[in-house]
Amino acid sequence: MDLFPYASFRPFQKEVYDTVYNGLREGKTVLINAPTGLGKTAAVLTAAVRYLLETDTPIHYVVRTRTELEPPVRELSKILARGVYLDYVVIKSRQDMCCYPQLKKLNYPEFLAECNLLKRMGRCAYYPPKEAEAPLKSVSTYVKYLCASQSCPYEYAKRKMKDAKLVISTYYYIFGKERADVGGRVVIVDEAHSLFDAVVHIHSISLSEADLRAAYREAKKYGFLEEASKLYRLLTFIKRSSGSVDIGDVLGLVADIDLDTAIWEITKRKTEERVNPYTPLLLVKELREALRERLRYYGEVKGESSTKTLVLYPLDPAALIKESLRGAKSVVYISGTLPISLFAESLGVFNYVKLDISFSDFIPRQNYVSIIDVGVTTKFEERDEEMYLRIAQRIATAINLSPGGVLAMFPSYEVMRGVRKYLKISIPHWYEGSQEVEWDTAEKFFIGAVARGRYVEGVEYVRDGKNLLTFVVVVGVPYPEPSPYLDKRVEMLKPRLREKAWNAVYLYHAVVSVRQAIGRLFRSPQDRGVVAFLDRRYAEPELWNELRDILTGSVIVNHLEEAERLITEFFTSATTVSR
Ligand code: SF4
Repeated sequence: MDLFPYASFRPFQKEVYDTVYNGLREGKTVLINAPTGLGKTAAVLTAAVRYLLETDTPIHYVVRTRTELEPPVRELSKILARGVYLDYVVIKSRQDMCCYPQLKKLNYPEFLAECNLLKRMGRCAYYPPKEAEAPLKSVSTYVKYLCASQSCPYEYAKRKMKDAKLVISTYYYIFGKERADVGGRVVIVDEAHSLFDAVVHIHSISLSEADLRAAYREAKKYGFLEEASKLYRLLTFIKRSSGSVDIGDVLGLVADIDLDTAIWEITKRKTEERVNPYTPLLLVKELREALRERLRYYGEVKGESSTKTLVLYPLDPAALIKESLRGAKSVVYISGTLPISLFAESLGVFNYVKLDISFSDFIPRQNYVSIIDVGVTTKFEERDEEMYLRIAQRIATAINLSPGGVLAMFPSYEVMRGVRKYLKISIPHWYEGSQEVEWDTAEKFFIGAVARGRYVEGVEYVRDGKNLLTFVVVVGVPYPEPSPYLDKRVEMLKPRLREKAWNAVYLYHAVVSVRQAIGRLFRSPQDRGVVAFLDRRYAEPELWNELRDILTGSVIVNHLEEAERLITEFFTSATTVSR
């Protein structure tokens, strides 16, 4: 049976399909870097389903966020429409799948307490879940169908997950605390470039002064005076601290608090009082349990007086990823912006097969102009008002020359603020922050984005299928701001990666961010545009090597204005070359 759900393969789609299928047959780790717009989800999923049908090996497909569940669900439904029968499950957060709209408005810990209470008291109309055959068209129809069948979608999916042949879930169900057993399964990790950050996010723990004050008040109110005084000691510690803290000190403060008895009793009393049984003592318990695990954490206190928060970050996300994937038959990592060798080195994966479809393989060279402006840099030592003014002049040139939308990605808010002072923009424009962008009403507009922010991650600047951007300006090099936490991670990697440890933490993020920004402009081989790199470091070997597929053929100038003729000619010769 031909499983591929389309009439024919697009350019490179067959290569993706073959690499995944052959890699799975050989039991290898597979790394796929293939630009957005190529159709890699359909190709990867079809190859994996073929392997499943031939070998009966179950598959678990994970995506970073709930919105990213839609593409694999859509492709799977098309594969199933070709006459395939297999038992599938889609799972995301319990609150997102809950059938009671009013519970979705609660904060998560309160929601969880309410859900557990309803289940315990037999007052949830959807629990226990009933048997149902939920059809798969989209995630929302899947959830609605189950609710209409009086079956809690989350509990239904949780129950079926162990035996299902194909699971599609968010990262949490493999990389989170309640992780599924992936022993003997094929795991497909989508958006793999963001895996390290996502795992750090999932395993980070924070406890604010407000949380702790609420826990202290509650312990006191319900008569747990000894516990209350210990919580007060922890609160005082957080109030007095700033920056890095010793994890041993934190553990010393929480180790002997009898949280279990207090939580049990408070929950019981609140249930009797008919109020939401959530207690903030649960947050302290989560913190204590995390510290008791084998994981190594870095701890710091952030914020100003009375709004301080203690945050713990895991120091070795690669170890967490490997632990979560232990026993998997094969793992397929896919992304549109994956620096394959940096990723593999950081994760400590050596025996793998790969397919690296570069930017220049996918986008015809005639469809873009790349320019490196060596007259500016955002190197920390050279950041001053004069430099910000020079960068603003270059961005103004880009805006003047571009016929459509211009996206400028800054390495940090600090640089964006510095440059913004000197930019006078008369077209519609937005800067990263709290504003909602409404670019779809304007022909020409300007977006000031910050690396790893929401204007460059997963946003489509598209109207009626047409990309509205024509110019991307990469301001400086988007290395993450140096921090004691990231420096500790570099230290941890040094025994394994030696001089490459810094690259695995800092360079990796910079390269992924640059590719993300450029990916906003090029969603398909038909897109055309100009990319300007405003930093002389792009002409130096370290960045050149990592971005050579984009940078090769770049015009090097001292000021973007020098490339005015080239840019104007490019935009006036409107010929688009297709693959
Ligand atoms: S069991 Fe399911 S439907 Fe019932 S409250 Fe909990 S999440 Fe909502």
